[in-house]
Amino acid sequence: MRLALLCRNPDLYSHRRLVEAAEARGHQIDVLDTLRIYMNITSHRPELHYRGEKLPKYDAVIPRIGTSITAYGTAVVRQFEMTGAWTLAESVAITRSRDKLRSLQLLSREGIGLPVTAFAHDTRQLDHLLEMVGGAPVVIKLLEGTQGVGVVLAETPRSAKSVIEAFRGAKVNILVQEFIKEAGGADIRTIVVGGKVVAAMKRQGGEGEFRSNLHRGGGASKIKITPEERATAVRAAKVMGLHVSGVDLLRSNHGPVVMEVNSSPGLEGIEGATGFDVAAQIIELIEKTAKPGKTRTKGTG
Ligand code: ADP
Repeated sequence: MRLALLCRNPDLYSHRRLVEAAEARGHQIDVLDTLRIYMNITSHRPELHYRGEKLPKYDAVIPRIGTSITAYGTAVVRQFEMTGAWTLAESVAITRSRDKLRSLQLLSREGIGLPVTAFAHDTRQLDHLLEMVGGAPVVIKLLEGTQGVGVVLAETPRSAKSVIEAFRGAKVNILVQEFIKEAGGADIRTIVVGGKVVAAMKRQGGEGEFRSNLHRGGGASKIKITPEERATAVRAAKVMGLHVSGVDLLRSNHGPVVMEVNSSPGLEGIEGATGFDVAAQIIELIEKTAKPGKTRTKGTG
């Protein structure tokens, strides 16, 4: 097959692994810098260009769009879709997964377990908002945050209120969430490929840290997940309409709850912790699934 990998940095572990896995399975893969692709939006004849040349027809496109370039990156993916190319992640699915509130709404509509979450623009009914999520301690999250930045644990009603007021004063959007204390500073990252969990790891935050992000000094280890956790991860990936995703779960005393569904999960942590060849599984899925003209809007909105 002829494949295109859209990314900014070809040297990143995940990108190197995808190239290696594709080549090992006999495919030709072009690594294209997403921001250097340009396009013309002429009626009926969508094209994509790169370094002065029209891009060829690819059997499949693998988008790895970083959060800082979501708007341009998804426009490029959409243009590929308009040419009839098959893409591993649809532009709408990427956009959906980047919006925490929209994702939670879609997951809740399908009855998937979630931390109780409240969202408001106005802070005049703060007491009621906190009551809705069961009162302090609560977790307050910036809607635009990644890698645990902008995720705050407020232990008392007073600190919750001052954090919320500070964020709102800074004109940023937040959501307020039930604190899943029983998770003990750990979460579970599952990788779902083609409707199956192919790898799972437990991430544990450092001493005194409730956030388990590896970027924040957490550690990771292979974990066996329960059938309920497996089913939850698979359903969450399906609702988001993603062929490949990283689904983050917390073990709560009301069952597994989904925190986030990531459309470009990193491979380094999960391959390191589990020893599984996740990149090869992704390429295998492309071999089985990719067909021109078969990209249509999946998922629920
Ligand atoms: P980001 O997308 O920035 O990584 P997350 O929402 O994943 O932010 O939160 C970062 C970490 O904080 C999670 O990996 C988890 O360990 C912890 N965390 C997030 N939400 C909760 C919650 N409601 N209860 C307990 N821990 C949480």
